[in-house]
This record gives sequence, C-alpha cells and structure tokens, in this order.
Amino acid sequence: MTQGTATKSWAIDLVSDTSTRPSAGMLAAMGAAEVGDEQRGEDPTTLALCARVAQMLGMDDALFLPSGTMCNQIAYLVHCRPGDEIIVAANAHVFGSEGAGASALAGAQFRPVATPDGIFGVEEARAAIRAPRHRSPRSRVISVEQTANRGGGSVWPTATLAEMARLAHASGLAAHMDGARLPNAAVASGAPMADHTRGYDSAWIDLSKGLGCPVGAVLAGTKEFIEEAWYWKHRLGGAMRQSGYLAAAGLYALDHNLERLAEDHANARLFARKVDGAGGVKVFPAEVTTNILFLDLSGCGIEAGGIAAALAEQGIRLGVESPTRMRVVTHLDVGTAQVEEAAAQLVRILEQAARAA
Ligand SMILES: *Cc1c(COP(=O)(O)O)cnc(C)c1O
Repeated sequence: MTQGTATKSWAIDLVSDTSTRPSAGMLAAMGAAEVGDEQRGEDPTTLALCARVAQMLGMDDALFLPSGTMCNQIAYLVHCRPGDEIIVAANAHVFGSEGAGASALAGAQFRPVATPDGIFGVEEARAAIRAPRHRSPRSRVISVEQTANRGGGSVWPTATLAEMARLAHASGLAAHMDGARLPNAAVASGAPMADHTRGYDSAWIDLSKGLGCPVGAVLAGTKEFIEEAWYWKHRLGGAMRQSGYLAAAGLYALDHNLERLAEDHANARLFARKVDGAGGVKVFPAEVTTNILFLDLSGCGIEAGGIAAALAEQGIRLGVESPTRMRVVTHLDVGTAQVEEAAAQLVRILEQAARAA
C-alpha cells in the first residue's frame, strides 16, 4: 500500500495526523501574510516563524523547510561524512521511511538499536558507539525520535534525552532529534519543547502533523549548524520564495493548535479503551500517551485488509501496516464523536469476525 485513490474522501480519517486540512482561520492567516523572497532572507513571516521555533526549542537559529524528511536529511548531511554511522532506533522513521536518505545522500549508515517502543537507554547507546578503529565506521550521530512514531507515540523522558545528548558529546558525536511530534511530547509530558531539546545540536518540528498545517517543518540548531544547513537547503532545492504564506500557517498553528493536542491524546486513549480486547484485538502500547496507537490483530478472525474494506464502507480509514497490524492516529480534524463512531464500527467488525470464526 503506497498511494491511495485521489478521489476517495473519508468521513473519518485516522490514517495519520497528516490528513488535516487548513481551517478557515488558518487560511485567513495565510492569505494575510506579509511576504518577500525567502532565499534572500527577505520574507518577514518566514523569519518570524524561524525565530519563534528557535526560541521554543531553545536553539540559536532555525530554518524553514518543505518537509520533516528534508530536516532529517539536511541534519545528517551537516553532521556526517561518508562512512559515518548514525545510532538510531530500529523502528525509527529515518531508518525505514525516508528512502535510505542517510546512505543515499550523506553516505552514512545506520546502527539500529532494537526497541519496541522506539526508546533506547543510555547504556544501549553507549554499547552501540564504536571504538575508533581504522576498519570501523565512525560513530557520528545519536538520533532520537520524539515522540516515537512506530513505538506507539511513546514519549522519551526528558532526563533520558538529556543523558543521551551528554553521552553523544562526551563521545565526540552529535545529538539529533527528529521532533516530528515533539509538540505532542511537550503537551503530554507537560515539559516545554526546550526541555526536550536541551543539549541537542539539531532538532525539528513538523508543522504538517498534529499542528494541522498543509506543508512545512522547521529545523533548529546551533548557529554554526544552521549556517551549514543553509547550503544544503539550497543544494536540495529547499530554498523558497514567498514562503511566508506557508509560514503564516505555522505561526497560526503555534498560537491555536498546540495546547489542543491534549484533545487528540484523550481521543486516542478513548479509542484504545473502546476497542482493546474486542474480538481478540490487542492495543499497543498498553498505555496510550499521545495520538498514536497500534492494533495487533494476530488474535482476531480477520486480517487488516478485511477490516479496512469493511470500515471503508462507512467512510472510515485506519492505517494498514501489515495483515495483523493497523495504526490509528488522532488529529484535529477528527472529533470525539467521530472517534467513538470509528471505535464502535471497528468493535462491530471485530466481534462479527470473532463470532464467524
Ligand atoms: C512524518 C514523519 C517524518 C517526516 O516528515 P514529513 O514532513 O512527512 O517529511 C519524520 N519523522 C517522523 C517520526 C515522522 O512521523
């Protein structure tokens, strides 16, 4: 499953928090944006967004980019030379969902650490750092993902994040954070984003996930890091022109859509509570803390494809990960009543399959 049909519109789309459409308020803010040439540093709205995110992440400076993927790839391009190695969770987005960009572009390879919830400990990271040897890859980056998407939206404790950054620096490595859902982590933990990114050389947030923007991500870091990142932004075609129209959506989202992420988390917990155990389904993680959860169907009498087809008849979409695994992601375009409706339909399908088995 890669591309869906362009025409199907879903009444309740829980496939991803990227499914959001800009609200009327966001569109109005975009339309009213003051703009200039971003490449020349003349777009006031983009500059304002970058300054705001840099401040929120406690970083020197920031860069507006078209996507989170480009944030990760530029970070690796800045931090790594060919032959370097990046320590990362085996289920990280950068490892499995970015077209092997680190190797294709930066010439770096990954050292994956197996971890079901996407979080690894300092001792595991220490064990993954290689002793300097002419025949070995050079350990260069520790890369963390906050929240851990395929780990079930799990939140790295801020103390672990800080220890990880200290370990990286003590070992001559850089610390990078894929913060696609860092805003969710901040809201769920009650600790502001800067508490998560403290000590990191680079970190970014996605505007097009839970924050509800159509496009965009902001990469932040030290002054030196951002200066180097600008070269890669140009080389990769990520330098823009009147990007203020898009940046205005980001500023609007930071004003209006940040605190409300708590509603998405409550809705995900509600969904988990309603469906866990129905027809043999098992929710992962056992305790849902942000907006992502997975359904383990191995104990059910129906596979993911069958469930997806039955839900589609009701205009409901969940993510199909494998025949025995589905993903549910809540977001601002799906309200509590719709989440209840989706859960009720899923329970009906699962119980029907269990009865037939
Ligand atoms: C979505 C996502 C990305 C990539 O972001 P895009 O804006 O879609 O390129 C990277 N990391 C994680 C954890 C994500 O969920």
